[in-house]
Amino acid sequence: MKDTLCAICGGSLQNQKVTIDRLVDNRLYLFENVQVQACDSCQEIWIPGNEVERMEQAIKGQIKPRKQIVVPVY
Ligand SMILES: [Zn+2]
Repeated sequence: MKDTLCAICGGSLQNQKVTIDRLVDNRLYLFENVQVQACDSCQEIWIPGNEVERMEQAIKGQIKPRKQIVVPVY
């Protein structure tokens, strides 16, 4: 994963673990410790295909959540 460049600005990408949120049909899905690549220059986050797949499976209910939280909306 070295020498990978950002497809938007050509900046260099750093491996990072982040929390990603997805709002689907009024349900909020949180994914913690997702291994992504973040651009140094424009802060764009690139999620690898296997992580995207895991998130889609989770949203379809194919993966059991580790925990559930209540999200207040104002
Ligand atoms: Zn960039």
